[in-house]
Order: sequence, then structure tokens, then C-alpha cells
Amino acid sequence: MDLKSGVGGYWRLPGPGQGQVVGWQEDGALVNGMTARPDAVHLAGQLYIDGEWVDSTGDGRIAVENPATEQVITEVPRGTPEDVDAAVNAARRAFPAWAATPVAERARLLSALRDALAARQDDLAGIITAEMGAPAKIAHAIQAGLPLQVLASYVDLAGCVEETETVGNSVVVREPAGVAAAITPWNYPLHQSIAKLAPALLAGCTVVHKPSEIAPLTAYTLAAMAHSIGFPPGVYNLLSGTGAVVGEALARHPGVDMVSFTGSTRAGQRVGALASETVKRVSLELGGKSANVILDDADITAAVKVGVANCFLNSGQTCNAWTRMLAPDSRYDEIVELAAATAAAYTVGDPTDPATRLGPLASAAQHDRVNGYLGQGIRDGARLVAGGPGRDGLPDRGYYVRGTVFADVDPDSTIAQQEIFGPVLSIIRYTNEDEAVRIANATQYGLAGAVWSADVDRAVAVARRLRTGQVDINGARFNPSAPFGGYGQSGNGRELGRHGLEEFQLIKSMQLP
Ligand code: NAD
Repeated sequence: MDLKSGVGGYWRLPGPGQGQVVGWQEDGALVNGMTARPDAVHLAGQLYIDGEWVDSTGDGRIAVENPATEQVITEVPRGTPEDVDAAVNAARRAFPAWAATPVAERARLLSALRDALAARQDDLAGIITAEMGAPAKIAHAIQAGLPLQVLASYVDLAGCVEETETVGNSVVVREPAGVAAAITPWNYPLHQSIAKLAPALLAGCTVVHKPSEIAPLTAYTLAAMAHSIGFPPGVYNLLSGTGAVVGEALARHPGVDMVSFTGSTRAGQRVGALASETVKRVSLELGGKSANVILDDADITAAVKVGVANCFLNSGQTCNAWTRMLAPDSRYDEIVELAAATAAAYTVGDPTDPATRLGPLASAAQHDRVNGYLGQGIRDGARLVAGGPGRDGLPDRGYYVRGTVFADVDPDSTIAQQEIFGPVLSIIRYTNEDEAVRIANATQYGLAGAVWSADVDRAVAVARRLRTGQVDINGARFNPSAPFGGYGQSGNGRELGRHGLEEFQLIKSMQLP
């Protein structure tokens, strides 16, 4: 690709878009912590609608900031309702032909997208680290790695797309839901995008995607790849912008048939309310406050170390994090001591350093919010055993907090009830299994959880009593093909695997004579 040098460490690409390219210099030095190659984030200055890079109808811009350096790395368009109309209309025009495209061809294009993402895994990880602060190792293995597994799993599911069922004299068929709006958050920006796009496109839906304004850059790479791979115009459209403008315009747009939303419970409630005006199908993947239930016969070392790691993953900005550790009376002190020591050993700092385990939080707002909860925990009487508020030992710049553990947390207190979305663990004491189950279930959420016991049957019996969408027994590994989603106010849909595909399908019964 022919690159032309720009000004002040920025690059511009020739050709359509003249998009800004960020964070790279000719000599290979890093700018603003960006480690991706320049063409990996090209065209971030425009929108991708109907197979073309186009200017927004408005001239507003949104700055994308590197949370480790507090420097602006680039700007993206602040999309408008008119941009939403254009993208939705393009997706509607493209829908009939895409829905009629053989599933094998749709799967072939998704497979090509997987290969293109795999070839760029390092770049994508670098972009994610720069825009939201995920430590390099996690950015590579999970942020940029998991989407490859998810795409591959959907290529493998191609055979399920058109499965039919016979019920008496009826044949039941599955059809694509239509135009899908995909609204995604910043915490796993690429994964959340692929978890929607892959099943939607495989099912035969066309998509209008609005990534988070905080971390929109991998979506630009995705659009550029979809374009060069040959996805037909209008099948995938990318709009940048705010939730209040672009997100809400999508949720209420009569040309959108379904909304797949991942984000906060508050925004999800709003999306659901707006979408109901046109009786859209809505799939919501929202927040969580998941419980890690350690039973008295568990391997305490494994349960606590894995439990802290899970809570602190991605600097605690993970919707399914086990943020409440439920510890039995008989092992309580041992668990608190080990959790505090484990947390204290987490190195906080520059996310591009491979040794870093906790990078910065994604934004100034997130930093304020998490620090607010740290103060609240102390005021509510929880015992601080690791970390805490303040900047002691932290880099001078960047939105860092220390990995924090509170013991003796009242299960009804604010820090035990609300999603903090930072590296903050609350340890809660219980006396017997019934009480553990009662505490685990006593939040508005129900996204994930864990149970640890030397007796797997005992753990499974407890897991069955938890009102939550996923439970890991004794630290069993994440399964990217298993349904993922919430009970209660954690959401109402399922992503991943076959269940995720079905979210994008409608059911038709035909009665045969
Ligand atoms: P957020 O709700 O602020 O934003 C998510 C997306 O929704 C963004 O694209 C945003 O622009 C858009 N949005 C915001 N307000 C909107 C509105 N009124 N109408 C339409 N769209 C709107 O969430 P966030 O801060 O980006 O992400 C963190 C939250 O996401 C956490 O609560 C986390 O638990 C949740 N999350 C859930 C899952 C899951 O699968 N359950 C996965 C990741 C993150």
C-alpha cells in the first residue's frame, strides 16, 4: 500500500477517504502507544456505507484517546441520523440478494474474514491496546484471538442455518431476521463485533454496525477487510457516533428489523424501550455481578488465584467477571489472605509492556467511576486488604487503578450489588451452602459465575441453583461455542454458537396438505 507521510506523526492514505492513520512513524517509532501498522486503521475519517467510504453528513468528530498516555490518537466522525438513514437504506436494499445467497458462499466469505483477521492479529491487538488499554498479552490472545475462534465456529455451523423441522403436518423453516443493527461496547471491541456480525451475516441478515465511540478503530479494519474480501455493498455498514444519536436512531429506525445490543444495563433499557415502538426483535447483552462460590472442600489455592485472575481480567472491565468471591466461614481467613497476596502481585502499568497484568482503565469517566466505588466501599465499612484508591505506585499519566480487594463485604452494600467494571474484588462470608446460593442470587444481574469443590457433582448441584447464564466448574475453560447471555437484568438474548445464530433467525411454519 502506498503511504504518504502526514503531519505530526499522523499518516494519510491516498485514494478514497484520505483517512487518517494513526500512531506510526516512518522509522517505526511508536506514537501514542500505537503498535499497529499504519494501514491497519486506515479510513478512520469516514463511514462505510453501501460498499463505499463516505463522509458523514455532519462535520462533528469524536476524539479517540489512548488511556495509557491520555493523548488523542485519532478522530472518527460523529455520525448523524441522516447517516443512519443512508446505512439502513443500503442494508435494506442489500438484504434480498444476501438472504438468497447460498449459505456456503456466506460461510466462505466469513472464513476469508477469519483468515484476514488472523493475518492481522498483532495489528488488531495493538489497536485495541492503544484505544482502550488492554495489556498486550490479553489484547493478543483474547481481544484479537477469540474473534478468530468465534468466526471459525460460525463457519462450522453453516449446516445448521437452513435446518427444518417437521411438526405434524407443518414444516418449520428458519429465515434471516432482516436488517440487524449491531451496537457494541468498548471492553472487548473486536470480539463483541464479531459475536454479532458472524451469526448475523451467516444467517443472511445485513448489518449496520455502531461500535463504541471509545474504541471504534478495529471496526474500521473490519470494514476495510470486508470490502476487500468482497462482501457485497450494503451487507456490512459501519457508522461511528454516539449512543445518544446514532445508537438511538438505529434502535427506533423503522427500517431496522432487529437490534443486537451489548453494553450497560441502563443503555440496554433505553434501546429496548425505543425498539419496542416498532416491535423490533431485541437481543440485549448487559452487565453482571457474578459470584465465585468457593465451597468448603475446594482447592483453595486454585479457586482464589483463578478467581482473582478472572476478576482482574482486562483490568476488571469484563461483563462476566467474578467480582464477588463467596468464601465459607471455615476457610475464610485463608481465602482473604491469599486473595490479598495474589492481587498485590499484579503489576500495573504500561499496557504495551508484556509483563503488565493491569493496564489503565479505558477512559477518564471509567477511572472516576471506579475510584468512586473504592471510596464507597471504604465508607460502607468493607475492609481494604489490597490496593485501594489513590495513585501510590502508579504511573503519573494514564487512567490507572490498583488491583483492589475488599474483605468483609456486606452482600447488600453498593460495591457488592453494582457493577464496578474495574479490578475490584469483594469477598463475602457465608456459613452454609444455602446461604451461599442465596447471596449469589441476590443481585439484579445473572450473567456468569463459578463453583469450586473437590466433588464435581456437588459443584454442579450448586451451579444448578444459581440464577445465571453461565457457570464454570473448578475453573473450566471458556467455550466460544456455548450460549452466552444473561438472566435478570444481565440481558435477554444469547450470543455465540447455535443459540447466537438463532437470535438472527425468524421461524416460519408451513402447513402441508
Ligand atoms: P454503554 O452502554 O455505555 O455503551 C455500549 C454501546 O451502546 C456503545 O456503542 C454506546 O455508544 C451505545 N449506547 C450508549 N447509550 C445508548 C443509547 N441510549 N441508545 C443506543 N445506544 C447507546 O456500555 P460500555 O460502557 O461501552 O460497555 C460497558 C458495559 O457493557 C458494561 O456494563 C458491561 O457489563 C457491558 N457488557 C456486557 C457484555 C455482555 O455480553 N453481557 C459484554 C461486554 C460488555
